[in-house]
Amino acid sequence: MRPLAAHIDLDALRHNYQLACSCAPQSRSVAVIKADAYGHGALACAQALEADVPAFAVACIEEALALRAGGIKKPIILLEGIFSAEELALVDQHEFWISVHSEWQVAALLAFSPRQPIPVWLKVDSGMHRLGFSPEEAPSVWQRLANAPQVTALHLMSHFATADAREGSYFNQQMVVLKRLAEQLNAPLCLANSPATLAWPTAHGDWNRPGVMLYGSDPLEVANEVTQQLRPVMSLRSEIIALRELGIGEQVGYGGRWRAERRSRIAVVAAGYGDGYDRHAVDGTPVLVNGKRCAIAGKVSMDMLTVDVTDIPEATIGSEVVLWGASSDGTVLPIDEVARYCDTISYTLLTGVLPRVPRHYHGARI
Ligand SMILES: *Cc1c(COP(=O)(O)O)cnc(C)c1O
Repeated sequence: MRPLAAHIDLDALRHNYQLACSCAPQSRSVAVIKADAYGHGALACAQALEADVPAFAVACIEEALALRAGGIKKPIILLEGIFSAEELALVDQHEFWISVHSEWQVAALLAFSPRQPIPVWLKVDSGMHRLGFSPEEAPSVWQRLANAPQVTALHLMSHFATADAREGSYFNQQMVVLKRLAEQLNAPLCLANSPATLAWPTAHGDWNRPGVMLYGSDPLEVANEVTQQLRPVMSLRSEIIALRELGIGEQVGYGGRWRAERRSRIAVVAAGYGDGYDRHAVDGTPVLVNGKRCAIAGKVSMDMLTVDVTDIPEATIGSEVVLWGASSDGTVLPIDEVARYCDTISYTLLTGVLPRVPRHYHGARI
């Protein structure tokens, strides 16, 4: 059997969720489990968290329906709301909460007769210029929704463009606009994603929306004392399937990108871009072999990648290789570090792990 698997530590997920809550004890934290829980398996993650969380957040109704079909009973908010008016019947039937970001969604909602009022989070564009009503439009939309029998538990929601950056001037500018609006409307707020949950207490609202930190990734430019306590949830592990000795000047892989500058020992690992491992990984991208750091040597192939194990003489066929996350001896290779070598972010690596990689679940299934 091919040795590659994504090991999912559900105890680490629960630990990270508690950390998110401890950052913002006055807020309730929605667990964001969109995109199949950032590649970790939405249903398994929801089951592990359901006893602890007040609600879950997903991107769309398809994701929410899959959770209900799996037996998840807690409230589920659709972060982008409905994609067509027909979805409102399912929203009503399954008691989903919705965000409302556009006039056509308001019109569809006000033309609909739900069995019971629908909890609505009105999305305001505070300067990211992606989804939401402008701060100038928001008050009149708010009033229409507040007066509508179709609507209950109305909240203001917004999203920050720069909460991960250390420098806070744009963030603070967005905050001033939002606080003013919330005061004017006497509106409960839901603003903070993971970086804002971790680093910007002024953004903590009645609700927060941590996502990536639940999976153990540190979204901040500069780690803080909380992010240092995050535990990786996904550990992508494989094994060495072949070894070879190279002389000085010999090359490895497609295009011969890597060349031996000394007598070298190269390990072939069963993992490649056909599994979602990023082909942009440069020579020097770290991996763990038997818990020890070594480096990718040569371009990533579809089903394999190659690693320089010259300095790990005990490396042998079957040795454990960790692409990110924890090795079985507990050594951690942070996914954020791997992402930097791939010129990307942990979010794309996690959501990019393809279906052919089996997920193995460990720890509390509550
Ligand atoms: C994905 C998402 C989040 C979670 O963001 P993280 O950076 O993963 O914490 C929060 N809010 C909205 C609207 C989102 O789409």
